[in-house]
Amino acid sequence: MSDVNEPCLGCAIVRGDTRPVGGVLARLPGLVLHGVAGPSPVRGWVVISSERHARALYDLDEPTARELGALAARVMRAQREVLGAEHAYAFAIGDVLRHCHLHLVPRFADTPRHLWGRAVFEATPAEHLPAEELEAAARTLAAALAMPPAP
Ligand SMILES: [Zn+2]
Repeated sequence: MSDVNEPCLGCAIVRGDTRPVGGVLARLPGLVLHGVAGPSPVRGWVVISSERHARALYDLDEPTARELGALAARVMRAQREVLGAEHAYAFAIGDVLRHCHLHLVPRFADTPRHLWGRAVFEATPAEHLPAEELEAAARTLAAALAMPPAP
């Protein structure tokens, strides 16, 4: 796997130099909501990244931190309401990519038990969904959030 920190993958997504599957769903002051930058076994897995290069949530200024919490709640609600998720997780780990980001991962009624929780990161290639399905879910989420699409 290539180094995601040199150059920083988070900064590349924020700048629009790299397009994750699902693309950028929304831009808010200080934050960018985008599809997860990697294969996914669940539809609607999205990530909120800080616009500015910050190490983690503890580096965000107060308004951005507040916006992050509010946005995460809205996205997780939409994952349940429009994608039909049973539950939604929020993960901010930051051991791999050292650019502040929060994973918002829906869990569906048919998500296999071995992919619950943090194990969703360990899905095998056979469990990854086709890009078209992920793109469609991202569009559905973006529409539900009623935020203007990214340029
Ligand atoms: Zn960065």
